[in-house]
Amino acid sequence: MSKALASFVGLLALLLGATVSTQTKADSDFKVTLLGTGTPVPLLDRFGPSTLVEAGNQKLLFDAGRGATIRLRQISATKGTGMIMTKIDALFLTHYHSDHTLGIPDLWLTGWLGMSRKEPFRLIGPVGAKSMMDNLERAYALDIKIRLEDEKLPPEGIATVVEEFEKDGIVYDKDGVKVIAFTVDHGEAIKPAVGYRIEYKGRAVVISGDTRYNKNVIKYSTGVDLLIHEVCIARPELLSSSDYNRRVMAHHTNPREAGQVFSLAKPKLAVYSHLTFLRGSAIPPATVDDIVAGTRETYDGPLQVGVDLMSFEIGDTVIVSQPKP
Ligand SMILES: [Zn+2]
Ligand SMILES: [Zn+2]
Repeated sequence: MSKALASFVGLLALLLGATVSTQTKADSDFKVTLLGTGTPVPLLDRFGPSTLVEAGNQKLLFDAGRGATIRLRQISATKGTGMIMTKIDALFLTHYHSDHTLGIPDLWLTGWLGMSRKEPFRLIGPVGAKSMMDNLERAYALDIKIRLEDEKLPPEGIATVVEEFEKDGIVYDKDGVKVIAFTVDHGEAIKPAVGYRIEYKGRAVVISGDTRYNKNVIKYSTGVDLLIHEVCIARPELLSSSDYNRRVMAHHTNPREAGQVFSLAKPKLAVYSHLTFLRGSAIPPATVDDIVAGTRETYDGPLQVGVDLMSFEIGDTVIVSQPKP
């Protein structure tokens, strides 16, 4: 990076209040990539919710929204590390809204093709994971039968191992990587719903999952290196005129409330993903600038608005990388 560019990036980081290093050398083996930062709305630039966490040689995926497998293919191409989609150690689910699970059959089935995945597909989630996977196995039984007979794909690669949990606590613990699930509040009818805290080498990342303002998120994310939080915004006139949008809004966290979470949790870096922009037929959606302005009413610390394929290296500082064009 040139000196002028480095000082510009430094200034930008200061303006944004972000812990952005101008370092370019990768010195951390704890990395987070936002694969999808969107919602149920099918958008080209914001795929369904999904976050990849790489810790040491482990690759953990959190939610598999629409397009997660495509995004994994994209980062495999830039890294030249082979197909990451076949090397996911475990997929964790936050809840059972379809925008978080639509990508499961794609990842599970496509990751098996070409004799790629030889290990069982491992799914970890709150109660509901077993029934979802059982039913997906039933739905795709004929495809699996055909490929076993015809392509001689390894049966162990399409097998599934599903672990369900009912309580908050450690749900994964392997070679120094620990994942802790905690209950969040996505609304009365939307249960179970959890967030996750991932710990590795004394550092931690929290993914809020879908939630309203929730004290449990603050409890589990206080002092973390990276807090990835959902956010939902609507113009006031939309909320006063649409009962449906008011109900959706009530299941999520608005920018002011998210700012309060960040102010109390004080993460090294707060990041928005799962950005919901509510809209009506005659009322346009709010903007990213509106999200930042709302957040700044209650929080003046480091903040990034996530985009698909933005990544974070967690070391002494959190290094933010913008997606490659
Ligand atoms: Zn969602
Ligand atoms: Zn949801």
